[in-house]
Amino acid sequence: MSSILESINSTVTPAASYIGTYAKLSDAHADTLNIVERVWASYFVWWGNDLIACGIFIFLLHEILYFGRCVPWMILDQIPYFHKWKIQGEAKVPSVAEQWECMKSVLISHFMVEAIPIWGFYPVCKYAGISIDVPFPSWMKICAHLALFFVLEDTWHYWLHRGLHYGPFYKHIHKQHHRYAAPFGLTAEYAHPVEVALLGVGTVGIPIAWVMLTGDLHLFTVSVWIALRLFQAIDAHSGYEFPVSLHHFLPIWAGADHHDDHHRYFTGNYASSFRWWDFVLDTEAGPAAKAERQQRLAAKAAKKAKKQQ
Ligand SMILES: [Zn+2]
Ligand SMILES: [Zn+2]
Repeated sequence: MSSILESINSTVTPAASYIGTYAKLSDAHADTLNIVERVWASYFVWWGNDLIACGIFIFLLHEILYFGRCVPWMILDQIPYFHKWKIQGEAKVPSVAEQWECMKSVLISHFMVEAIPIWGFYPVCKYAGISIDVPFPSWMKICAHLALFFVLEDTWHYWLHRGLHYGPFYKHIHKQHHRYAAPFGLTAEYAHPVEVALLGVGTVGIPIAWVMLTGDLHLFTVSVWIALRLFQAIDAHSGYEFPVSLHHFLPIWAGADHHDDHHRYFTGNYASSFRWWDFVLDTEAGPAAKAERQQRLAAKAAKKAKKQQ
């Protein structure tokens, strides 16, 4: 019994209710664990089965955060005042019927497709060495892991997404996600199951690969990472660009402005979180980027012609 959670499990008997278990655990560990760690440990002690506890936690985390983050965007769509910040204009605000249709499709995908790998997540965690123990790692370490996952996932997403625009891959897989030329929050996960699996490797596979290499990762960090990555994907599809949007303060951040142009112009802007891959590899979307590209090519051709004279 090397794990603190395992020793808590053997000393704190779960009460009938979660609240009761939390009270008991808090009495015993008020000095050694902070409130979030006590909430976390009580949850695993109360279930008494890490496989079920982990499966339900990841499934609910995904559902609550996904739809919870979509709701504010759906409310904004119903308030005309906010439509002046809609990137593609008021005419592209989705109807309630369109949103409902998309929501049904996403829900079917969550329950029929994504629920299966979510139940396999705990055995993979255990095998790979992702810790569920308390106390949690320091905030410094959590932030370092989150920054690393953002950078690596963005790279994975750029290349996979660019590959999905190749003829047959687009036709049979990625076309579904491009049904909406003017995206809205709920469309973030409106995609073919193969695409969900391939791009999901960037979100879940990268942390697993990291822990297999280093042996250093906590499930709490993975949960925060999944939450932030979900928020990033939903916000990027929101269709709204505000003067206070993050990329105005952090120019490397992609945001809705970047991904909306991908849906609108169909090619370019393949990355998820950052703008550097599209900038460096000259795949930025939109007429302004296209004009700049043509100007650069024309200048290069003129220079070559001058050299040959
Ligand atoms: Zn695409
Ligand atoms: Zn998209």
